Amino acid sequence: MSSPDPFLEAAIAEARAGLAEGGIPIGAVIVQGDQILARGRNRRIQWGSAIRHGEMDALENLGRQPASLYRSCTLYTTLSPCPMCTGAILLYRIPRVVIGENRTFLGSEELLRRCGVAVEVRDDAECRELLGAFIRRSPLAWEEDIGLREGERGAGGSFGP
Ligand SMILES: [Zn+2]
Repeated sequence: MSSPDPFLEAAIAEARAGLAEGGIPIGAVIVQGDQILARGRNRRIQWGSAIRHGEMDALENLGRQPASLYRSCTLYTTLSPCPMCTGAILLYRIPRVVIGENRTFLGSEELLRRCGVAVEVRDDAECRELLGAFIRRSPLAWEEDIGLREGERGAGGSFGP
């Protein structure tokens, strides 16, 4: 068991807020030093968005920033980042990513590591339970979120870089 991390807790709070809105419970925060600069959550369902994963939403909420800012930040996300979000992390050279869990979905962590990003996986039970319960209720919304056709690889489908 890891001790509570206030930044991971903030990402989880975003995931819970998304769930309360009828969305997919995945949250993210962007941290610099001991400050949260931006918060985000998956809004695909709420906004009918193709790209608003939690990480993308946090980046968009951070707004247009100089390159130097991203390079001093850590991205916290409740779930292993998919290839789209991994691309954004690499584009802006965010040097560190803290991941709540990667058992429900394994994103492109290996690609992040290969590109020199420090990746830390917390294997947090609350993150797993929040998303796991959602997937059991709404498997189709989940498959759509990660680009799978209906029933393509099941709710636990994972892929690497
Ligand atoms: Zn994503």
